[in-house]
Amino acid sequence: MATKPQPITRTRTCRACGQSFEYPLAGSAATRHHCEQCVEIPAAYRRVVERLLIRVEALEAKLKRIETEKQS
Ligand SMILES: [Zn+2]
Repeated sequence: MATKPQPITRTRTCRACGQSFEYPLAGSAATRHHCEQCVEIPAAYRRVVERLLIRVEALEAKLKRIETEKQS
């Protein structure tokens, strides 16, 4: 019963680039919210990237909506 608690690896989505990544992974610098690459971006820049990702996702959702409207 004295087993060391192992962290549960989950698939997470990076807040900055939108990519899926496994967290936590041994030897990986990734955090709960950022993948290994984005963790290296200075926080001030990362905030801008995060804001842009939100806009890109909003635009993608809008595009998808337009596409579905076209089909009907
Ligand atoms: Zn990322």
